[in-house]
Amino acid sequence: MLVVENLTTHYGSSQALFGMNLSLEAGQVATLLGRNGMGKTTTINTIMGIVKASGGSIKFDGHELVGRESFRTANLGIGLVPEGRQIFPNLSMMENLVATASNHLGVSDPWTVDKVFELFPELATRKGSMGNLLSGGEQQMLAIGRALMTNPKLLILDEATEGLAPLVRQKIWTALTEIAGSGMAIIVVDKNLRDLMRIADRHFIVQRGQVVWSGSSAELEADETARRQYLGF
Ligand code: ATP
Repeated sequence: MLVVENLTTHYGSSQALFGMNLSLEAGQVATLLGRNGMGKTTTINTIMGIVKASGGSIKFDGHELVGRESFRTANLGIGLVPEGRQIFPNLSMMENLVATASNHLGVSDPWTVDKVFELFPELATRKGSMGNLLSGGEQQMLAIGRALMTNPKLLILDEATEGLAPLVRQKIWTALTEIAGSGMAIIVVDKNLRDLMRIADRHFIVQRGQVVWSGSSAELEADETARRQYLGF
């Protein structure tokens, strides 16, 4: 479904990605792991076209994403839950959910407001609340719901549970497990390795703008050297 090959990205004269390679099959859950500043967000933002690639290729469902505008990439079926949530502060919770809703790909059982409320019942009681008055947990649930309302084939979450209380974090992991169970592919960045190892099929460790290790949760569990060297666990 997604094949990233030899991807390079620069911020001005400073290079952030040095030949990134990764791939994901339909329905898989993959993580990008690595210490701060290693290039996880840059990888996501380059896939989405928010940051321009300087070289390499990103194929999604046979379409080349390099050089494509972000909204066209989104229309191909990639939903982003960005770092910091980026909820529209001056729209209500309900307005945030419907503002970008669409079913471009014509999926047969599309996401609706009611389905999002089933996934996150907490949101159903906050329909009229303005985006900036929601708690961090509510904003993250809303950011996930908003991305689902675009009916993506691939959901990408950058820092899925950053700054959230343990109970809310568990709600997010439960929801992601349910979403993955419906067959949607997911790429997730987060610092909670143990939670990620429970839900993901495949992990990519990013070090200085390159993937230096990839494997399953069982392989990561067994490879203490890689975990210590690259992740400090
Ligand atoms: P974190 O977990 O801290 O977000 P990360 O692995 O997502 O880290 P990136 O944010 O992708 O890492 O950063 C990769 C490199 O690119 C770092 O050296 C960072 O300083 C640099 N970088 C990121 N954004 C910019 C920017 N807008 N301008 C210049 N350099 C940037």
